[in-house]
Amino acid sequence: RGANAPDYLSGLNPEQRAAVETTEGPVLVLAGAGTGKTRVLTTRIAHILATGRAYPSQILAVTFTNKAAREMKQRIGMLVGGQVEGMPWLGTFHSIGVKILRRHAELVGLKPNFTILDTDDQIRLIKQLIQAENLDDKRWPARTFANMLDGWKNKGLVPNDIPEGDARAFAGKGRQLYAAYQARLTTLNACDFGDLLMHPIALFKANPDVLAEYHRRFRYILVDEYQDTNVAQYMWLRLLAQQPSRRQGGDAAISTLAGKIGASRSAPNIPSAARQGRPAVAADAAPPRSEPRSGDSVSANKPQQINICCVGDDDQSIYGWRGAEVDNILRFDKDFPGATVIRLERNYRSTGHILGAASHLIAHNEDRLGKTLFTDSPDPEDPKVEVNAGWDSEEEARAIGEAIEDLQRREDHNLNDMAILVRASFQMRSFEDRFVTMGLNYRVIGGPRFYERMEIRDALAYFRCVCQPADDLAFERIVNTPKRGLGDATVRLLHDYAREREVPIIAAAGEMVETEELKPKPRNTLRGLVADFRRWSELLPTMKHTELAEQILEESGYTEMWQNDRSAEAPGRLENLKELIRSMEEYESLPSFLEHVALVMDAEQNSEMDAVSIMTLHSAKGLEFETVFLPGWEEGLFPHQRALDEGGRSGLEEERRLAYVGITRGKRRVKIWFVSNRRIHGLWQSTIPSRFLDELPEAHVEVMEANTSYGGYGASGFGGYGASRWDGGNAFKESSYKTPGWKRAQAAQAGFAETPSRHGSDGWAGGRSREITYDAEPGS
Ligand code: ATP
Ligand code: MG
Repeated sequence: RGANAPDYLSGLNPEQRAAVETTEGPVLVLAGAGTGKTRVLTTRIAHILATGRAYPSQILAVTFTNKAAREMKQRIGMLVGGQVEGMPWLGTFHSIGVKILRRHAELVGLKPNFTILDTDDQIRLIKQLIQAENLDDKRWPARTFANMLDGWKNKGLVPNDIPEGDARAFAGKGRQLYAAYQARLTTLNACDFGDLLMHPIALFKANPDVLAEYHRRFRYILVDEYQDTNVAQYMWLRLLAQQPSRRQGGDAAISTLAGKIGASRSAPNIPSAARQGRPAVAADAAPPRSEPRSGDSVSANKPQQINICCVGDDDQSIYGWRGAEVDNILRFDKDFPGATVIRLERNYRSTGHILGAASHLIAHNEDRLGKTLFTDSPDPEDPKVEVNAGWDSEEEARAIGEAIEDLQRREDHNLNDMAILVRASFQMRSFEDRFVTMGLNYRVIGGPRFYERMEIRDALAYFRCVCQPADDLAFERIVNTPKRGLGDATVRLLHDYAREREVPIIAAAGEMVETEELKPKPRNTLRGLVADFRRWSELLPTMKHTELAEQILEESGYTEMWQNDRSAEAPGRLENLKELIRSMEEYESLPSFLEHVALVMDAEQNSEMDAVSIMTLHSAKGLEFETVFLPGWEEGLFPHQRALDEGGRSGLEEERRLAYVGITRGKRRVKIWFVSNRRIHGLWQSTIPSRFLDELPEAHVEVMEANTSYGGYGASGFGGYGASRWDGGNAFKESSYKTPGWKRAQAAQAGFAETPSRHGSDGWAGGRSREITYDAEPGS
């Protein structure tokens, strides 16, 4: 058959080919990083199209990001020679969900032109509802409720389904508020992000005829990154795949598949289609048709088959904190009886050293099925995984910048071939600053650049008003942030007043509070704010600018706003604010810092140009680069303190999977960094190398000489202070982190507070807390 196989099949190995050609029935491809799962999905779609099994509009294909969807579309086009006239149902869960909802909006009480709420609108609405219930919205913050809503919707729970404990939340009004919120959205002809799945699920359940229409339409369903689907996504898929949703009996399901896959670690890797005696479907089984038949269905009369193919890797499940359930992948063969399970073991992406390091690291997780990965092309010339030590984040950024330029020169690398993957978004700042200084092109993927983040822009707006009282745009940005009852109406009055007299708004505000033009309440608030700005401006020439900046954020209530915020992003935002203050230290004054920021913001961000990518580990999923830099491998940052505090062992294991994802993004080079000092809150804190460094195998790792300009340990390599604490894993193994008290001792040493809360009890602005928290959210 090989000789006659179409081009797109010829490069595949036998297991990949089985995954492509087993088009009928449920298929699960469960395989490690870089084994070609995504490539299999793409080729499978090409195959389905090329053999006339379905039209593009009959294929439902789900990717994790919009970018991945675009790339997949392009590659399918290339494989089948441009005959694809669009794949309307290839996209993310959300983009497909919104499309379905627009078609049937009436069935859930919406009009087809419904709006999708952004977070601000959502919070405002929830706050109104909380107040309408006569609850104090200080005690019962809207953001906390928004967070709970998100959790319920990730789990696919409607108001009547939520657990009793949750229903009793919010002074016993949890359920009531949820129901009221949904009713309000309907009145507004709006929905939130979670509803993009919840509404389709509800309408499919209530309207079997509509569901049947989709059953006829979607002949083939394909899902990438299946390990990171949440319960709602799972329910939605099951409905479309014609299986009644069943969430019970999970443990049995897991052991079934674990038995089948995990226990057969040493068994020969036979594609299970063959193992189960099922013939793989030949590429030429169905002759391509040139004439579309009437209707949109190829085989409306045949008994329905569930042709679903999911691919994933339990070791890359990194969204548990956002409701993803790795169980979904583990129970696949229970949900879809007779599923063909295919394993891929050959990695086409990375060198033997990279695979060796990643496999050894992930083997420290207990909760996994276990897989082997091998490469056919180990090369003695391949560089080992590098571990580098630095003094602090500035040096880390400088050294990585130099390494990038060096690779560009020596190895003829494009900048596009290189990526910096950080654990927390605040880490991006030092790289962005450094690269702007060096004139090195970079782009931030999966989120705004550091200085473009909402909280940073807000903070900068405060500083701008202090330095430049005529900055109307800045003032408008923060006049009611945090919310202080100076709404649109007040701002409009201010505007009119300012325009009439041709003065800046702050000045207008100063005058207006002395008149009767504003109602007493906003007038008093505004008077306070104007006085604040005057005081801060007066302090500007004398006070140390970092202290003043901190004071501004504290006194304005801005820091407090995020401290009271219970959303998943809030701790990261606080961390970014700390980093902002930290980064100011290098500048003489607030104005010179603002000038620097303006220059950084102006740096070009063009998707066509050759540029180094900077992104969080979370957004790097599925991607690959010639060279990957992994900075910040220090205890508390990676693994992230919050994951340890809140998640215990499973939190640690998710962090380790994140490390696995990071390492396996590299094709040829992986360069890990840790620094001995992170400057937190203006204070030097010595840090401890990440335990993950200890978990890397010596055979595949090279510890680099510290080539630092700093005296401490420069000359003596690893014999001196700081970096010496990591000596390839030996020192640390003895004081094993499993020992009780380990964490406490380490935390104390590293200057971490032990507060298990999300962002500490006294926050950062008071200057006492030494707790470090990090942002887990990609692109928040
Ligand atoms: P991840 O788990 O990181 O998402 P993956 O399993 O989806 O990885 P792919 O991204 O599909 O892996 O493939 C990894 C790399 O290997 C890609 O560059 C892909 O083109 C290449 N590759 C996959 N299969 C083959 C093959 N049979 N021959 C040559 N190259 C291949
Ligand atoms: Mg992939």
